[in-house]
Amino acid sequence: MATLSFSRLCILALPLAAMCLATPALARHHHHRLHKGDPSSNNQNTAPALETPATPPIPEPRPTGAESGVDTEAAPPKQDKERQPSAGSQSAAPQTPAVVATPPEKPAELEPEPPAAAPLPPQKPDEAGGEKMLPDPRSADLPADKMPEDEVACRGRLKALGVEFEEHKAEHDAGIGCSIPYPIVLKTLGKSISITPGAELDCQMAEAVARFAVDVVQPTAKAEFDADLKSISQASAFVCRPRHGTHKLSEHAFGNALDIASFTLSNGSKIDVAPAPPEKDAKFLDAVRKAACGPFKTVLGPGSDADHSLHFHFDLEPRRHGGTFCQ
Ligand SMILES: [Zn+2]
Repeated sequence: MATLSFSRLCILALPLAAMCLATPALARHHHHRLHKGDPSSNNQNTAPALETPATPPIPEPRPTGAESGVDTEAAPPKQDKERQPSAGSQSAAPQTPAVVATPPEKPAELEPEPPAAAPLPPQKPDEAGGEKMLPDPRSADLPADKMPEDEVACRGRLKALGVEFEEHKAEHDAGIGCSIPYPIVLKTLGKSISITPGAELDCQMAEAVARFAVDVVQPTAKAEFDADLKSISQASAFVCRPRHGTHKLSEHAFGNALDIASFTLSNGSKIDVAPAPPEKDAKFLDAVRKAACGPFKTVLGPGSDADHSLHFHFDLEPRRHGGTFCQ
């Protein structure tokens, strides 16, 4: 009985053993089929090549890959990153590691791109969202019958500085909100410095520009070029418009800002505000720009943004806690 049953067992056991031996291979195939289902199967070319049976299963998983085909940009990098270690160690080891190392890098570079591009769409609606200009209390400013004391005093100081200027009629745009109750047009910034073309500004800003030209730009020109400041070329003074890309009124809309495009010296040389000026010009421009932060509350220029690559923007808009905004 015992012998019989043992031999029977052996007879039964043989196919079982054979099956048991076969199962690991099946399992391995199955494992690969699962992997082949991933959308990033392109990068797995090396893995199936080692085990020929893995090739037939390819068509099966395709449906899974087709799904991810919708977002091809986002899906593959993620998968590659996760699988990078296993794919590299298992299948790539026998081959040249250099070749395998290259593909994972490309998807990795791609991955940051979608997130970077994603935040952009929400920003655009924000900018184009509201049509109305944000309210500014200065928009309500209108000239009185008699010029206020501070405006009269400001003009007195300009005259004492040797500044030439003309009175200009009040600026007021009820629709947009621009307003300068007592504008002046600057012709010079001192006894020997002109500003071209004439700059329409609020008197307080005009005085700040004149003092800056005399106290900062002139000595800097003397130090850097051994020449005097002859004139400043302005790109815009009063302009009735919002701040670029926003619905907030620009300081230009209140005659409180000046854009400077270039400086001309007594020796005839002209220094342009530009992203990459000649070395000596750059030294002069940097010094002027740095010194402007303080007398002016906002200082922008090349490097701040695309809108200020060819001029300095100076304005007197009060900043929080009496601070400055200089970029
Ligand atoms: Zn400006």
